[in-house]
Amino acid sequence: MLALTPHSRLANGEFQDNPISSAPPASQGCAALADSFAMRVILAQPRGFCAGVVRAIEIVERAIEKFGQPVFVRHEIVHNQHVVEALKEKGARFVEGLDEIPDGAVTVFSAHGVAESVIREAKSRALPVIDATCPLVSKVHAQAKHYVAQGRTLILIGHPGHPEVDGTMGQVAAPVHLVSSREQVETLQIPPNTPVAYVTQTTLSIDDTRNIIEALIERFPDIEGPHTSDICYATQNRQSAVRELCKIADIVLVVGSRNSSNSNRLREIGIEEGIPTYLIADGNAIDPNWFVNKQIVGLTAGASAPEELVQDVIDALRRIDVNLEVSKMEGLEEHVEFRLPPELRTQ
Ligand code: SF4
Repeated sequence: MLALTPHSRLANGEFQDNPISSAPPASQGCAALADSFAMRVILAQPRGFCAGVVRAIEIVERAIEKFGQPVFVRHEIVHNQHVVEALKEKGARFVEGLDEIPDGAVTVFSAHGVAESVIREAKSRALPVIDATCPLVSKVHAQAKHYVAQGRTLILIGHPGHPEVDGTMGQVAAPVHLVSSREQVETLQIPPNTPVAYVTQTTLSIDDTRNIIEALIERFPDIEGPHTSDICYATQNRQSAVRELCKIADIVLVVGSRNSSNSNRLREIGIEEGIPTYLIADGNAIDPNWFVNKQIVGLTAGASAPEELVQDVIDALRRIDVNLEVSKMEGLEEHVEFRLPPELRTQ
């Protein structure tokens, strides 16, 4: 059994700044791996599916069972290609616009939420809609509307182009100012003494968001906003867990899709902590060279990545080292559950 030591990375264990495609120097090669100690995997706790993702997937599955296939889903129900492919096999069809959905077809809105204009378009076509928007995203929508109803100019902290951000911006009938960094707060075109409020995307980095909120308060001392930011419990818990993991791991693997916001934030935390960290879709993405002279592999998964992909990564690591040991780090057990929409409840 290996002792857990903080950062047992060797002095020559260099890595590059963009680890998605980086690897240790080729000269180290797999031969060095054969001489290394047995690897040990430590699983982050918590990791993987959050309650909003579980609910969204169940909504699609139950809708197919109840109404028959195909069920049309606007945008990827959650940002994970494996989940999307599995639902396609069960009878889901994924589209980006409502114009791709035939009249009368059962339509599901993804966990990321949608703009009011999408809701209006669906209504005008009388599409039977089931809304899989995560309740924590809906809460942000409600806050945004509340602040705008108070006559405040709304600032959204989030990443441009993310569907959740598009949805939240489109929930209010007023201009919304989007900021993604502390620097952008300085360039906001809002006259002095304007009453302002902020809300945030749910899957941001806790630390970055805290910084941006501080800058907003400095510039607009009377700004209103949620007591804590809107970053959801699952994002916060997974970020805290991966930070703990970095105290003992030589390398960190984050299972998740490249378009998954919360998975990317987990990867960034690993990098910030000085640990080579790779975002991988599944076990096929692993490069054995990453593990040369590495003993302790921290393994986590974004909120939209299923546990079977974590197992797939463990299986792939076992092909590199048959003596691989796997254990779970101590951490928070989550017991959050969200109710299904009324039309899909069984009781
Ligand atoms: Fe909801 Fe958070 Fe999961 Fe997004 S990551 S679906 S906001 S619980």
